[in-house]
Formats: sequence, structure tokens, C-alpha cells
Amino acid sequence: MSGRLVFEHATPAQRVLFGAGMAAAHLAEEVRGRDVLAVVTARSAAVARHLLGDVPVVAWFDEVAEHVPVATAARARAAAVGAELLVAVGGGSAIGVAKAVALTTGLPIVAVPTTYAGSEATDVWGVTEGGVKRTGTDSRVLPGTVIYDPELTLSLPVGLSVASGLNALAHGVETLWGPRADPINAALAVEGIRLLGEGLPEVVRDPAGLRGREQVLCGAHLAAAAFASAGTGLHHRICHVLGGRFGLPHAPTHAAVLPHVLAFNAPAAPKAAGRVVAALRPGVTGSQAGDAVAALAGLYARLDAPRALRDLGLAEDDLEEAARLALAAVPPSNPRGVGPADMLRLLRAAWAGDAPQADETPRVGDAPQG
Ligand code: NAD
Repeated sequence: MSGRLVFEHATPAQRVLFGAGMAAAHLAEEVRGRDVLAVVTARSAAVARHLLGDVPVVAWFDEVAEHVPVATAARARAAAVGAELLVAVGGGSAIGVAKAVALTTGLPIVAVPTTYAGSEATDVWGVTEGGVKRTGTDSRVLPGTVIYDPELTLSLPVGLSVASGLNALAHGVETLWGPRADPINAALAVEGIRLLGEGLPEVVRDPAGLRGREQVLCGAHLAAAAFASAGTGLHHRICHVLGGRFGLPHAPTHAAVLPHVLAFNAPAAPKAAGRVVAALRPGVTGSQAGDAVAALAGLYARLDAPRALRDLGLAEDDLEEAARLALAAVPPSNPRGVGPADMLRLLRAAWAGDAPQADETPRVGDAPQG
């Protein structure tokens, strides 16, 4: 089989409506008289009330918390009694709560994202109990319709926009070595990475402008759809531990960890490295791991991106436990083997915010992949 192209790709059914200033009209069209449970955050409630206008909302649920604590999910399910449709307006946390409800009730979701987290494009759910984040996939949690309105992201402060956009970028990059990576999800990921690499500096330059916001929101969708198809890799496993066990904030944690996972994996994944370079530095080709790491570092420098887990609340004393938990979660498909010392080194570098260095030394046990 070596060298031959063999894959199975499933494309989930989802309607995507994209347009600045069109969310209210799109929502009215999608709800079509069904009784709605609106899942919102304290911040997004006012926006949602405006967007939902005359839509029949039977209940509002606004106790959203990051990483969906099981108690929150239970209260949201109770609030959903009598509803025919879940409308989630907000970031990944609001959409995550709607997914937890859909998982047990089968209610359909219309998602109106206000960040670049991309949860709306995946069939991945997650809940947290006792410091452990459980995740799974289920077609019931994939929103049937996503309504993207770049105007809704104009209020996202620059720092949050950058962190959230790099969370999206992590979806794209991780797709390239994901357990079900294939040419279809790679194509989506590369275009997603390209749009994010172009749009994020534009958002930093002109946060109130729609051009960068459109690129980043569209890139976030492509990257998340690609990631949903390719599956979870090393980067996401590490971030789940950091979020679930240590309560670190989702988006900046992804931003801080990504350069170090890329530096670790790229030497064993030359095709992935080449795609990252081509997407972030159009016109430049190259598959050297160092080029991919440098391309990402160049983007981070333009964005003043979050870099250090210690700034996000991880104590140095927690590194060993984090490394042990993350090591136990390493997927067998990772392009290179990960030992305890590798994991600790990677996490320590991300904790300190060190400049990532691609380790190009081939080692026994590495499994080079595309
Ligand atoms: P979030 O939804 O918690 O939002 C972060 C902060 O931004 C909050 O304070 C929120 O009120 C604020 N905010 C949101 N939109 C805003 C806007 N337009 N203007 C101003 N402020 C705004 O964070 P997130 O990063 O979007 O999502 C993180 C959660 O989503 C985590 O629980 C994560 O696990 C989950 N997630 C799941 C998937 C998946 O595929 N299942 C993918 C990505 C993220």
C-alpha cells in the first residue's frame, strides 16, 4: 500500500449562511416558527435578543461556562423542555452548551458564532466533570445550520480576536497530521490557514473593518470543518488536559501550545510542514520543519500573540502532572513517537513562552508521515 492514495472521507450535511449584517434575516428564515431555546452568554444576550426579534423564544439559558460543566449541561437540558430548536448565539462556550443539550435530546441546533473557535462546524462535544474534560463525537451535536455574520465579531477585542483566530489556526494545522487526514480535509485546512494568516494581521491593523473579520471568520469555518473530518491530534489532546484539569482559558492556551507542537511534529511530517509554509507564505515552497516553524513565528510576531502558559495561570509545579496526563492521551497516529521527556520539554517551552525550535534529529521509533 505504501505510496498509494487510499482514503474514506465523509462530508457531513450542514447549511452555512455567511454574510455581514444578515444574521437576523437568516435566523428568521431558519427558525420557521419553531419554539426556540436561546443559549446565550451574559454578553451575547442583548445581541441575541436583537437578532431573534419576533422569533418564538420559549426560554433563555444564559448560565454558559467554559468547558461545559456537567451541572450546567443538566440545567440547560431542563430549560429545553418544550423547545423544538436550539439557537446558540456566542462563542464556543455557548455553542458547547447547546451541543450538550442536543446530545441527549436530539434537538437541532442553529449556531450563530461570535468568535473564531469553530465549534459550530464540528460534531465534537465536550463536558467537564471533576477536572476531567470528556469529549466525543456524535452527529446529533453538529449544528444543522450555521449563520456567520462578521459584524457580530467586530466587538471582539483585538487580544481575544488573535487568541481565537490562533485557536482556529490550530484546527487547520492539526488537520494536516490528524488521524484521518486526507486530501479533502487538507485542502480545506490549507485554505483556512491561508485566510487566517492573511486576515488576522488585518484584524489587528483595523479591528473595526469588515475585510479582515470576513477572512478570519471564513478561515475559521474551513479550518474547523477540516479538523472535524481529520480528527484530534497531539495538540488538541494537550490543550484538553490544560483546559479540563487546570482550567486554562481555551483560545490563548491553543495559541501558546501550537508553535511547540508544530516544532515537535514538523520534522516527521514534511508534507504538513510544506503546506503550512505554502499557506502562510504564499509563493514560498519548502518542506523543512524549520521553515514551517519560522512561518508561524513570523505570524505570531505580527499579532503579538499569547505565548506563555505561565501567563495563563499554569503553575510551574503543575508541569509534571500536565505532562503525565497529556502523555497518556497521545494519539497513536502522531507522526512521531512522544516520550515522557519530550512531553515535559514541549510543555516547559510552552509554559515559559520560549521561541520554538524544530528538532530535526530523526530518532528511533519516529514514524515519518506526510
Ligand atoms: P467563549 O465562548 O468562552 O468566549 C470567550 C470570551 O469572549 C467570553 O468572555 C465571551 O463572552 C466573549 N465573547 C464572545 N464573543 C464575543 C464578541 N463577539 N465580542 C466580545 N466578546 C465576545 O470562548 P471560545 O474560545 O469561543 O470557545 C471556547 C469553548 O469552546 C471551550 O469550552 C472549548 O472547549 C469549546 N470549543 C469546542 C470545539 C468543538 O469542536 N467542540 C471547538 C472549539 C472550541
